[in-house]
Amino acid sequence: MSQPLEGGDAVLRALGIHRLVMPVPFPDAGGPVNAYAVEDGKGGVLFFDSGIGTPEGVTALHAGAAAARLDLRRSRQVVVSHGHVDHFGNAQMLSELSGATVRLHPGDMEKVVGEDVWEIRAPLYATFLRRQGVPEEQLPRLLSIGRHSGKYSRRVDPDRVQPLTEGEHFRVGKVRLDVLHLPGHTPGLVCLWDAEHRLLFADDHLLARTSPNPFLELVDERTTRRALIQYLHSIGRVRALDVEWVLPGHGPPFQGHRAAIDSLLRFYERRQEKLLGALAADPRTPVELSVVLFGAQEGPRLYLTLSEVVGNLEVLEDAGRVRRVPGDGLDRWVAA
Ligand SMILES: [Zn+2]
Ligand SMILES: [Zn+2]
Repeated sequence: MSQPLEGGDAVLRALGIHRLVMPVPFPDAGGPVNAYAVEDGKGGVLFFDSGIGTPEGVTALHAGAAAARLDLRRSRQVVVSHGHVDHFGNAQMLSELSGATVRLHPGDMEKVVGEDVWEIRAPLYATFLRRQGVPEEQLPRLLSIGRHSGKYSRRVDPDRVQPLTEGEHFRVGKVRLDVLHLPGHTPGLVCLWDAEHRLLFADDHLLARTSPNPFLELVDERTTRRALIQYLHSIGRVRALDVEWVLPGHGPPFQGHRAAIDSLLRFYERRQEKLLGALAADPRTPVELSVVLFGAQEGPRLYLTLSEVVGNLEVLEDAGRVRRVPGDGLDRWVAA
């Protein structure tokens, strides 16, 4: 006999929705990851996210489905919130089991579907990262963050996939789920919104305690996707919604989305003030600024801290408070 459900999980269960929890082996993710299984009332299931594809993740997914009496072979659609391994890891497996269609936004397609094209993209990132001040010997470990690892996820066959866009909706069982395209954490991130029951399936766009990293992605070797600027725009859209329960990608459902968003906005403002303080004297590279804010880092962690620094600098630049000083192959920034 399973434990009685509380709070948001009980609300979900009454609507035929199950939160399946899988352990995540990297600490930066924000805790175990959630997949949400929505019953269609005819034995079929729609998944919003599929969790991580480690052996422990796959075992937990099967155990969670069994406890909820879900038949994974009757998965109809697997909606991928965004192209991070802890969210799409089991999409291919679920589709193989059931023939389910995998749905995701074109903005994150490259990270999930077909052959890994990272080796083609990596030189672009290397050029950009050198200009941020990353020492040559650190580049290989930094760049490993973009390479697909079969340890955490399987890539999805292109013929299983249909693109997903803002304005679409799913009618599943007792709910109608509207697709919101909310770029920022990644370019192709989507959330699902049930306006009738005021449920926001928020994945990594809004978490209770972790600020979503504005993950650095490039258009070309000089142009980023301006992740934090996009994120702040997207979170403004979510703030305006009348949400009762946020169903996050990590951690239990929570209430009070405006308070969570406002504290997140204050957090970014403080970080920007710190950056401005560090820029008061001489021009500095993003790597130098990352050391001031986060201490010396290397490998994938340095990539995450650089994403924070570059994202916040771009916000400050847009506000006319900092500017770039080009020269000697390095991007340096000064207070305006
Ligand atoms: Zn993510
Ligand atoms: Zn995540």
